[in-house]
Amino acid sequence: ASTWGNVPQGPPVCITEAFKADKFEKKINLGVGAYRDDKGKPYVLPSVRQAEDKVISSRMNKEYAGITGVPEFTKAAAVLAYGKDSSALDRLAITQSISGTGALRIGGAFLARFFPGAKTIYIPTPSWANHAAVFKDSGLQVEKYAYYNKDTIGLDFEGMVADISKAPSGSIFLFHACAHNPTGVDPTPAQWKQIEAAVKAKGHFSFFDMAYQGFASGDIHKDAFAVRHFVDQGHNICLAQSFAKNMGLYGERIGAFSMVCADAEERKRVDSQIKILVRPLYSNPPIHGARIAAEILNTPALYDQWLVEVKEMAERIITMRALLKENLEKLGSQHDWSHITSQIGMFAYTGLTPEQMDQLAKEHSVYATRDGRISVAGITSDNVGRLAEAIFKVKG
Ligand code: PMP
Repeated sequence: ASTWGNVPQGPPVCITEAFKADKFEKKINLGVGAYRDDKGKPYVLPSVRQAEDKVISSRMNKEYAGITGVPEFTKAAAVLAYGKDSSALDRLAITQSISGTGALRIGGAFLARFFPGAKTIYIPTPSWANHAAVFKDSGLQVEKYAYYNKDTIGLDFEGMVADISKAPSGSIFLFHACAHNPTGVDPTPAQWKQIEAAVKAKGHFSFFDMAYQGFASGDIHKDAFAVRHFVDQGHNICLAQSFAKNMGLYGERIGAFSMVCADAEERKRVDSQIKILVRPLYSNPPIHGARIAAEILNTPALYDQWLVEVKEMAERIITMRALLKENLEKLGSQHDWSHITSQIGMFAYTGLTPEQMDQLAKEHSVYATRDGRISVAGITSDNVGRLAEAIFKVKG
């Protein structure tokens, strides 16, 4: 018998196959988790092109980075997330990571090895589909807390706070810092303050996943509110950052994992253990994306330009949300579509059922996930009308 005769067929991990097979020329792909411009094309930020040109023309060598990556990058990434005056900066253990996913994985592994309490992480219901897998494979148990209210298509704030309060003291909680994926539903700053108080009352440990800083509202500071507020309130959080979305560096796999420590001495110990964790995983991270991101973050003119470009991406998405809602209303839809514009980030949770999503695909060549999530980045000035008609036909 073959050595691998016992390997069962796994389910597909990717949702784009049906889209590819569809021959209709006006088919719409709302399943992708990447930004598209108003022509539906992948977008490389001009600031990224410039930074990359500079990196290439400077003819740097291709030596290995250290285990924790390119220091010019990680220092700047920390400032971006925590703020330049943050008390966290001089007690922060930080490592470059294989984008946001890698940062989550390093964090999961660190907690599995060193967290003094129960090795269980609470994630929102629902959460990014990969969270549970990443944390399980890092050696943590995964539990859920209430997050989304399907009746209001909004935040189940009471349920969320109740679950935070019900969990055993000293539990680990995973929060999406902004632009919750898949729902697009975020707590308001006032709600974050109450969430922080509930977390503090139970002595929980907070793990923030910030995959969309700047991409959500268009303002990097506003999007970092929750992270900075928790730190200001004395929480020694840990954080996964991704530069996939806000710099459009998807395939460069550039991110960072950081842990706010009690003091510089603790930072040193934690840093040594992060290195011991990373070394057998991949020795050290790739350098190209880190150099590009560092160039942008550390060159004032490029940084300012990047801020404008992130804002433009966020605003295109916000405009498409408004257009979709407007078109649905123009068609005479009697549903309340206000959630489309109150949600934030790349994704909108439409409230459509799995059956309605199937119908969208089969009858209208509109492809997204069966949970009713659509990628607003896949909507353009050209296709928004047809999309609204399709949604109107299946939902009314
Ligand atoms: N966290 C969340 C919530 C995400 O939506 C994503 C990207 N879809 C990631 C983390 C990580 O993405 P990446 O590894 O590409 O940075």
